Amino acid sequence: MKPVGLFLCTLMMAPALVAADPAADSAIHPQVKKVVEEVSAERIRATIEKLVSFGTRHTLSAQDDPDHGIGAARKWIFAEFQSYSPRLQVRYDHWRVKKTGRIFKDADLYNVIAVLPGKTMPEVEVVVSAHYDSINLGKLPAPAAAGERPLQVDWEKTAELPAPGACDDGSGIAAVMELARVMSQYEFAKTLVFIAFAGEEQGLVGGTLEAAQAKKDGTLIEAVLNNDIIGTDVTGDGRTGNSAVNVYSDDQLDSLAQGLARYVQWAGARYLPSLKVNVQYTQDRLGRGGDQTPFQQQGFSAVRLSTPNEILANQHHEGDTLENMSVPYTTRVAKLNAAAAAALALAPRTPDIWTVSAATGTAANAPAPPRLPMISRGRGYDAVLRWRAASPDANLKGYAVVTKATTAPFWEQEIFVGKVTEFTLEGVSIDDTKFGVKAIGNDGTESLVAAYVYPPRGKAEYKTEP
Ligand SMILES: [Zn+2]
Repeated sequence: MKPVGLFLCTLMMAPALVAADPAADSAIHPQVKKVVEEVSAERIRATIEKLVSFGTRHTLSAQDDPDHGIGAARKWIFAEFQSYSPRLQVRYDHWRVKKTGRIFKDADLYNVIAVLPGKTMPEVEVVVSAHYDSINLGKLPAPAAAGERPLQVDWEKTAELPAPGACDDGSGIAAVMELARVMSQYEFAKTLVFIAFAGEEQGLVGGTLEAAQAKKDGTLIEAVLNNDIIGTDVTGDGRTGNSAVNVYSDDQLDSLAQGLARYVQWAGARYLPSLKVNVQYTQDRLGRGGDQTPFQQQGFSAVRLSTPNEILANQHHEGDTLENMSVPYTTRVAKLNAAAAAALALAPRTPDIWTVSAATGTAANAPAPPRLPMISRGRGYDAVLRWRAASPDANLKGYAVVTKATTAPFWEQEIFVGKVTEFTLEGVSIDDTKFGVKAIGNDGTESLVAAYVYPPRGKAEYKTEP
């Protein structure tokens, strides 16, 4: 973006306005470029072939058969992660889940996780994920007519049926594993976490348990790129397209998820311009779900990458085979993941724009005051933005302030303001403009944008005399 509107601004704290360096602004980071280039279609094909060979990866299928079922699949994924690099720390996160709903008996659930520790900011995590379980819902009777009872699935029977799950979600797992292989040959500032979830088809069980654990542990997850159904480029009714991908966020304007979706679009435009990123301001495909949602619910920034061209007839059925999907398309979406994850893992941290909460009440149960973004009116008619570095970072060139109309879906102006922590846009109303700030690295990397968004006003209640 061009630094439009510089004339509007005065710099309060730095001695002089630091001009944006156009070279750095359009810089291609050599390591991000290499990672994107090294993602291999052959490896992705081989991974999906192997995943399909387990017959089914249903969460309640065989745990101990060496060749068949989810137990064999998870052991293979674990061993593969280990084989990529000794620097990958591989583990299972295991839960014993009680019988409920589609979990028709008490079950062991294992997420398979590979961690590539960051060099300078190991406490900050960038997650790339997918689900390795699959399902075949069986032969369903004809769709119910209006007013009839909805279809009933025999969940117990689904554990025995062949469920190749090549696209759903062998494609996502192949991308996650390929990124673990390629990225573990490099070093990144932040920690990269590669996760293969189980229990997605039973109701996002693995994602829900993992997100709750991360919240409980206070894990600093900056982003979750969840990949689910990234393997087809032709719809069941013949529409085609291998040059676009949907990135689902949520419905709340300028939320964390929407900010991350815009970041994926930015990284894609820079490193994989032939793949158009369709940012979606919805949580998922209508009425359906994925493992990004439980992370959003725990307050993390999470999105779902998914094809705009699904073959619905094959989904959750025997027809979800390698022959019925496109490895080249999966490879392109994997490359997009690589660009976004690598760029973010090398970038400075997102600036902290929030006021530090101070307790207002003395009572032990006094509600915590809301966190507010540090934006004010200055002399009355100016926009004054303040922020602080989230942590010391040697790779910090400075900050850029971004603005847009309150109705605009994407940032419209960008102003590089240098190494300052306050900036005033003179005469710019904070009542009809949205603002954000991001950190720019010396190497041209960029953090996520911190958006100055106010929490919704609380509902008031007043007691009146009867
Ligand atoms: Zn899925």
